[in-house]
Amino acid sequence: MQTDIAIIGAGPAGLGAAAELGRIGAGHVTVIEREQVPGGVPRHCGHSPFGMREFHRIMGGKTYAARLTAAAEAGGATIMCNTTVTALADGPELQLTGPEGTFTLSARAVLIATGTREASRVQRMIGGQKPGGVIPTGALQGLVHLNKQVPFRRPVILGTELVSFSALLTCRQAGIKPVAMIEQGPHVIARSPAALLPRVLGVPIHLNTNIAAIHGRERVTGVTLTGAQGGRELECDGVLLTGAFRSEAALLAASGGVIDTASTGPVVDSFGRISMPGYFAAGNLLRPVETAGASWAEGKRAAHAIHAFLRDELPDRSLNQTLTIASDTIRYALPQHIAPSGPGRHQQILLRVTRPVKGELRLSQNGQIISRRRVNAMPERRITLDLPEQPGTGAFVLSLEEAA
Ligand SMILES: Cc1cc2nc3c(=O)[nH]c(=O)nc-3n(C[C@H](O)[C@H](O)[C@H](O)COP(=O)(O)OP(=O)(O)OC[C@H]3O[C@@H](n4cnc5c(N)ncnc54)[C@H](O)[C@@H]3O)c2cc1C
Repeated sequence: MQTDIAIIGAGPAGLGAAAELGRIGAGHVTVIEREQVPGGVPRHCGHSPFGMREFHRIMGGKTYAARLTAAAEAGGATIMCNTTVTALADGPELQLTGPEGTFTLSARAVLIATGTREASRVQRMIGGQKPGGVIPTGALQGLVHLNKQVPFRRPVILGTELVSFSALLTCRQAGIKPVAMIEQGPHVIARSPAALLPRVLGVPIHLNTNIAAIHGRERVTGVTLTGAQGGRELECDGVLLTGAFRSEAALLAASGGVIDTASTGPVVDSFGRISMPGYFAAGNLLRPVETAGASWAEGKRAAHAIHAFLRDELPDRSLNQTLTIASDTIRYALPQHIAPSGPGRHQQILLRVTRPVKGELRLSQNGQIISRRRVNAMPERRITLDLPEQPGTGAFVLSLEEAA
């Protein structure tokens, strides 16, 4: 099979790109989605608000996903559901598995928009037995909103990111009463007023605490807490693993794409070009994690970069300059390679910090500061810094000078 532009993943980023590629007449677009229905994560978010940036109105996740799908189809995109991309090859050429079996799809350009997922129990190194009832938020939302099932009644929630509070809302809708929220750090990670919700719902938050072990043979019967709640046993019938996002980059890594261990996503330049020629990346695959609106905007921007690429109008990669991080307080920053101005360029550096920090963020080149801004930052909160239109020559160095 053949198409002009293949998009892997029908979430906000992939569908946003498909709609925009259709609008600007870039060529025929085929979107490949492993789920039965397009829409990505918002499809199983039973709550609002979605859609302000995209459709100028507030809507629930399911409606939003349907609107994104309709916009992509109106642009002429073909959406292939129940189909998984299993390998990426030069060409570009994709290996696919669907209801008809295994086949290949050749394209002139490919956008990878496979999103993000929450870290598993193994990645969080939680010991103990292996009973049922240990799931991430995405699975809970899918079970409750798509399958109308209730996986547990009194779980413990690990994490206090925004999605942890979204999990709390899902629990409430399903009549589930969590016994506690557990946060490893000294603060709740999500911004207020989300942090007020557990108080309203009567769910205690344990800070500076972690889950050391999960107990139960068939089903979870309890957990062992460490830290401030040291050595304490807590009875519960499930464990909800929330947040601690990682890019869904396994396909890329297995196909030889270069991954940034800090961001957990692909190494990209300002146009979203990855290490494999003809391949681009957008959305939450780039890093964990941004909102649906931000991912959609990145997909839309990638459409313009891909359109320019197909017309041979993107600046040559040899003009890219590397971005180096010179601070332990900066967890990741991207794009990792800064390109000169052109259609669909990322105009800012996007970064996250490792701990709460106040100070000045500085971007330097050849010892000269070329962009700076004051920050009062918390982990998991979005931070941006403007980029110069033309990168000049020499590596960019990103540093964070803490206030005395
Ligand atoms: C549990 C959870 C809850 C969230 N809640 C919110 C929220 O309330 N509000 C908000 O703004 N953001 C939320 N987010 C962040 C969310 O990821 C973004 O809002 C948005 O969905 C990102 O869009 P995306 O297109 O980058 O990725 P996704 O929406 O994740 O879409 C990626 C798509 O790629 C598909 N895919 C992956 N690999 C393959 C493959 N190999 N072959 C074919 N298809 C593939 C997936 O099935 C998926 O449909 C949440 C994230 C999670 C994990």
